[in-house]
Amino acid sequence: MSYRSTQQAQTSLTDLPDGSLPAHHVGCPCCGLSLSIPSLTPGEYAHCPRCRQHLVRIEHHPLDTPTAYAIASLIIMLIVYTQLYMSIDLLGIHVELTIPYMVETLAQQDYSLLAEVMFLLTFGSPILFLLLCLYVYTGLRYRQILPGMLYATRTLVRLRHWIMVDVFYIATLVAYIKISGMAQIHFGLAFWLMMVLAILLIRTSQGVPEHWIFYQIQRLTGNDPVLQNNSADTINCNYCLFEQPASLNVCSVCGSYLSRRKPLSLSISMAFLLAAIIFYIPANLLPMMITRSPGTNLSSTILDGIEYMWNDGDVLIAVVIFSASMAIPILKIISMLVLLYSAAYRPLMSAHKLTILYRITESIGRWSMIDIFVVIILMSAFSTPLANVTPGAATIYFCAVVILTMVSALSFDPRLLWDEAVQQRKHHKPHYKNSSKRHSHHEPI
Ligand SMILES: [Zn+2]
Ligand SMILES: [Zn+2]
Repeated sequence: MSYRSTQQAQTSLTDLPDGSLPAHHVGCPCCGLSLSIPSLTPGEYAHCPRCRQHLVRIEHHPLDTPTAYAIASLIIMLIVYTQLYMSIDLLGIHVELTIPYMVETLAQQDYSLLAEVMFLLTFGSPILFLLLCLYVYTGLRYRQILPGMLYATRTLVRLRHWIMVDVFYIATLVAYIKISGMAQIHFGLAFWLMMVLAILLIRTSQGVPEHWIFYQIQRLTGNDPVLQNNSADTINCNYCLFEQPASLNVCSVCGSYLSRRKPLSLSISMAFLLAAIIFYIPANLLPMMITRSPGTNLSSTILDGIEYMWNDGDVLIAVVIFSASMAIPILKIISMLVLLYSAAYRPLMSAHKLTILYRITESIGRWSMIDIFVVIILMSAFSTPLANVTPGAATIYFCAVVILTMVSALSFDPRLLWDEAVQQRKHHKPHYKNSSKRHSHHEPI
């Protein structure tokens, strides 16, 4: 096992263009492999050769691009949250919906928890994410250490999973197909710009590589994370990926607690999953939506809603709602059980397949919020005293299921899936070959 020559890393850094990363060691956050990545200049990226995990990507213009996307997102966000989202004409009643109006209607109807969840996921998390991006990038641009820069970076990384503007947009399309038969709908400027906002948010999020940001912040403080560590016994930080001396408790680069594997990952993940399974029962048995009109008072569960749409000929919506509200949560619970069993007892599949399963589970969970958002939009559209739609008790339980399964997946440490595979390989002759020029690696300690 050979470690970099510190002298060599220092020399190479001065020759590299601004915003580059020198050659250094990192730990793959997905499979735990220790890697030595070569120097990366703007426009280059590195990923793990074993599990294909994306490690870091430096933009061609590392400071300008994320700043520009974040400012553009903020401006569009301002329009989306103040202008008309959609207008609905039903039985001579004209309703103009804006996003703040929807949140307000929810809060007035004793569903303040749902209002808070919607407000946080579609407005709170994206705006906080964008402001923190701009804060951190302002510091980097003017080469100033701003108060709490490390904390701001750690927070914006965590917020990424909780931005659901794109899910809300798709939910609007589902709600549109649902009500277009009975009412006239016109989309406002905010609706069209929300699609742009969703794309810009994804792009901003991709353009903010935390590994690179932590490195740049340390350079501003006069430290070089690559040079700090001369210890033979090392540990890789779960968050910034930098190699740290094993004697440290807190990462000297990003300030997170250091551990070889997330502490109590399996128990915490299992606890959240069990809570999700328990909540999934009332989420299906209780009414999701209550529709009142003169002469009718209809309570429908998730399954009733799907059946109604299917029989009504709206096969597309029936399939979308079935996927989001039934298939995704059930598949997610089953995959988490498979992952937890594989990590705790015996792998049910190869580490590669389990990792793919983990990535799918982690990324699809948020789409289950579609049905909740559809109910919120329908409720805002039909809220006259004569005919109205109100959310049922199941919405709260279902929201809890979506959030709990997401937290369960985020608490799970996928490196546990590879630990056994590595142990088995150590009994045989370790053999690795470099699969590409961009990365070389050595066995984890
Ligand atoms: Zn990996
Ligand atoms: Zn760290």
